[in-house]
Amino acid sequence: MALKYFLIDVDGVLYNGSTVVDGAVHALRFLRESGLKFQLLTNTSGKTALAVKEKLNGMGFDIFESDIYAAANAMIDFIRKKKKAARCYLVGTVSLEQAMIDAGLKVTRKEEPVDFVVLAYDSEVTYQKLDIALRLLLGGAGFIATHQMKIYPNETGVHINVGAFAKALEYASGKAAYTIGKPNPDFFLDSMRRIKARKEETAMVGDDIFEDIKGAQDCGLKAIFVESGSYKKDDLEKNGIRPDFSLKSIKDIQPIINA
Ligand SMILES: [Mg+2]
Repeated sequence: MALKYFLIDVDGVLYNGSTVVDGAVHALRFLRESGLKFQLLTNTSGKTALAVKEKLNGMGFDIFESDIYAAANAMIDFIRKKKKAARCYLVGTVSLEQAMIDAGLKVTRKEEPVDFVVLAYDSEVTYQKLDIALRLLLGGAGFIATHQMKIYPNETGVHINVGAFAKALEYASGKAAYTIGKPNPDFFLDSMRRIKARKEETAMVGDDIFEDIKGAQDCGLKAIFVESGSYKKDDLEKNGIRPDFSLKSIKDIQPIINA
């Protein structure tokens, strides 16, 4: 059956750091002009959907905020459903803190009683921040990780990601984190609902073999692997992961749409 709906990862698929992936702008324009629906589905947790939109459009894309479903926003929605004005200890960026406050959540960086410890992307993570998080978890706070990706790519190579710190805290506290972003099936399904996508006609385009490719397949979707980000083709075999399609980059998506 022809593919009509696309969930498209951002980091490593559309750009790496501040470098746009060659042909990505044209590929998204092609999808839109062909009447195919897409959502940019990103585990990005240092930036909200609005910030991702601004970054993309600054690179020449033509994206609306509603085209993007980011783990940062999904995390805020998830916490607000649990408790409207929840108190959160955040390991994360200042811009995520602001988005949480704007949504009515209470955010602290200090060791004081909270409802949740929230672990998100933070390039300034320290021993002290993790150490406080540990004691709050042991004291009974809920544990939320925006995602559990091991690495992320930018133009200087691959870098340690949130998952590694989540695992450290899980190990030390004995408490499992609730993971918001990919590969949580709710994250895929919520984004599909936004474009009224049917499972059998939906494919995930991603560079992360675990979160994007295996995650999508476990959810019953087709998976299109691109080599423009964190992982290379060799990594698929090494990890026993078999995408439905494998491309050099999103630039080559056109021929497989009716495959
Ligand atoms: Mg990615």
